[in-house]
Amino acid sequence: MAGDVVTRYENVMKAYGGLTVVKNLNLEIKRGEFLSLLGPSGSGKTTTLMMLAGLQSPTSGRILLEGTPIEGIPPHRRNIGVVFQNYALFPHMTISENLAYPLKARRMAKDEIRRRVRRGLEMVKLEALGERRPAELSGGQQQRVALARALVFEPSVVLLDEPLGALDRQLRETMQLELKQLHRETSVTMVYVTHDQGEAMTMSDRVAVFHEGELLQCDAPKTLYDEPRSAFVAEFVGENNRLAGTVVGTDTQWIKIRTDAGLLLTARSQLDLRAGDAVLLYIRPERALVGAAAAACDNRYEARVVDSIFLGDHTRLRLDLPGQPNFTVKQNFFADSGPPAAGDKVQLGWSAQALQIVTA
Ligand code: ADP
Ligand code: MG
Repeated sequence: MAGDVVTRYENVMKAYGGLTVVKNLNLEIKRGEFLSLLGPSGSGKTTTLMMLAGLQSPTSGRILLEGTPIEGIPPHRRNIGVVFQNYALFPHMTISENLAYPLKARRMAKDEIRRRVRRGLEMVKLEALGERRPAELSGGQQQRVALARALVFEPSVVLLDEPLGALDRQLRETMQLELKQLHRETSVTMVYVTHDQGEAMTMSDRVAVFHEGELLQCDAPKTLYDEPRSAFVAEFVGENNRLAGTVVGTDTQWIKIRTDAGLLLTARSQLDLRAGDAVLLYIRPERALVGAAAAACDNRYEARVVDSIFLGDHTRLRLDLPGQPNFTVKQNFFADSGPPAAGDKVQLGWSAQALQIVTA
C-alpha cells in the first residue's frame, strides 16, 4: 500500500525545448503534512506542482499518487484540490454554487452536497455569505472560497500556488494562520508554493528549497535554518553573515579555518573536510554576541561598530570585521553599559556550534 507516502516524484525531469526547468527531482510527500515548495521566481516550483496536478507531464521520470503512476489517471479523477492565485471562482454562480460544483461533477447525492457546502462555508467562516456572488466578496474572502472549494470533496492532496500573493501584507499574515489552522483541523495533505521564506517557515512541516530547477534541501524549518547544506539555502532562508575561508587543520572534534581576510576560526567538526578545502562560513545575526557576552565564546575578534539601531525588543548592529564590512548582530541584552554606538570598538564572538559550514 501507499503507507505513509501520498506522492512520490521519481527522477522527474521537465524540459521546454533545450531548457531544463526541473532537474532530476526525487521527493516524497507524506500523508497529512504541510509541505512548501520554496524558491525564487523561475526556480521550477509551479512546474513541479503542475506535473502533480496533471496539467503538465514530465519529460522523463514518473510521479506516483497513492502508489499508482499518475499518467494513467485522468486529471479529474486524481482526487486533487487546487488553489491558484488566478484560478478564479465562477462569477455567475453564488458562493454556495461554487462550492457545490466539484461535488456535482462527482455526482454526489443532493443531501450530501448540501451538507458539505454548509460544512465548507463553516470551515472558512463564510456561513453568512453563501448566497452572494464572488464579485460581492473581498479578495481575502474570495481566496477563502477557493480554498473551501478545493477541500469540499475531501481530496487526498491540495495544491496551492501562491494563493495569498495578491493580498496585502496584513491580510496575508492573517490568512497564513487561518490556513495553518485549517490544515490542522482537516489534516489534509497540502503542497504550497511560495517565494516568501517567512511564509514557508510560518506554515510548513517541511520546506523543499528549489534553485534553478534543482531541489537543494527538504527539511523541517528548524533544520533548514540551523543546518543549511548549501550556500544558497544558508542565504535564502533567514538572515546570515558569510565569511569565506580555507580549512587549516582538523581533529575529531574541532576544525580550524582561516578566512581569506586572515581571521582564525574554530568550528565544530561536522563535514568530511580536510586541510586546504575552501569553505563558506555562516553565522546568524542572533548567534553572534558583542560586549561582555562575547567573553566566553570560542571565537572572539575586535570589530568596529558602523551603526547601532535600537528596535525596542533588540538592537541591530552593523559591524566592520576583516572580510565582512556589513557583519550584522541582533542582540537584546547588553550586560555592560547598554548597546554600543557607531564608531565604538567592541568584542565580537560566537561559539563553535554557531558556525554553519558549507563547501564553497
Ligand atoms: P516558479 O513557479 O518557481 O516561478 P516555473 O515552474 O513557473 O517557476 O518556471 C520555471 C522555468 O520554466 C522558468 O524559466 C519559466 O520561464 C519556464 N517555463 C514555465 N512554463 C513554461 C512553458 N510552458 N514553456 C516554456 N518555458 C516555461
Ligand atoms: Mg510559480
